[in-house]
Amino acid sequence: MPAEALSAWRPARIVQNEPMARGSIWLTLEAADGRAADFRPGHVLGLGLRQPDGSYLRHAYTVSVGDAPQRRFHHLYRVIPSGRLTPRLEKLRPGETIYFQGPGHRPIEDEVDPGAERIIGIATGTGVGPLYGYARRVLELGEMRPITLFAGFREESDMCLRDELDGLAHRYPNFGYRYTLTRPSPAWRGLTGRVTHSVPPMLGRLDRPHVHLVGNGEMVHLFRSALFAAGMPRERVSIETYFNHSAEPPKPDVQGLAERLKPPAKAS
Ligand SMILES: Cc1cc2nc3c(=O)[nH]c(=O)nc-3n(C[C@H](O)[C@H](O)[C@H](O)COP(=O)(O)OP(=O)(O)OC[C@H]3O[C@@H](n4cnc5c(N)ncnc54)[C@H](O)[C@@H]3O)c2cc1C
Repeated sequence: MPAEALSAWRPARIVQNEPMARGSIWLTLEAADGRAADFRPGHVLGLGLRQPDGSYLRHAYTVSVGDAPQRRFHHLYRVIPSGRLTPRLEKLRPGETIYFQGPGHRPIEDEVDPGAERIIGIATGTGVGPLYGYARRVLELGEMRPITLFAGFREESDMCLRDELDGLAHRYPNFGYRYTLTRPSPAWRGLTGRVTHSVPPMLGRLDRPHVHLVGNGEMVHLFRSALFAAGMPRERVSIETYFNHSAEPPKPDVQGLAERLKPPAKAS
């Protein structure tokens, strides 16, 4: 697609803008210009609110689910109370108009190495949205490789998409997911701590999977560096950062995580 077409703003009608968990909102948009809107999980769109001076208050948002026949696309976004855009986005109601441009980035399914034997997605917060959409899409299309998703949240009330992921796990024996909480209630029986703490022992041998990392750049860059340091081939890791884009993980943290990612040496 020509660059001008990708950067042109297009109108979309808001179909749904509803909380899924504390501070996380599921946004469904429908292209309102009669043109195709064929987006896949992992594509990134610019979403913008038109300002009185004709400019756009904009940010990037990753497509969680695409629905080309209906010209619809869905995003999961976090409301940042002190943010410029999201508190205003949150107030929009069905029927109102927002603008979008793109897509940019590659869909997750195009990033995943075809030679990988299994697929692992690791997210913080709203990064779970495109991982869910990716898993749903490829499983519906017949993906047979095991897919496991891990997502980190702070508290139980922050967790979203559990019903949807439970539905996938029920329908597809090759799909599973685990959530990990940094501030769980005493009733929580799942994983605890950051994904960098709780997920490594669950990854198994690193020559088999493709790992897609999405969310906070601190997690993404630390995990990616540690996977490489532990011997993971470069083509088997793909990433997307939502913020803290230039976070540089401290070397001791990378080394520590890499050690925990390596399989234990066999006893002689
Ligand atoms: C390629 C790309 C894809 C993105 N996709 C998504 C997405 O699908 N969903 C989404 O919620 N955000 C996504 N973001 C982040 C989004 O673009 C905005 O930065 C975010 O919505 C904050 O906008 P704001 O104007 O309200 O806050 P701003 O006034 O811009 O304040 C930004 C601050 O908010 C914090 N922040 C930003 N995003 C998050 C987040 N997701 N969770 C917690 N804290 C955050 C950071 O500390 C950041 O410095 C994406 C960013 C990029 C670059």
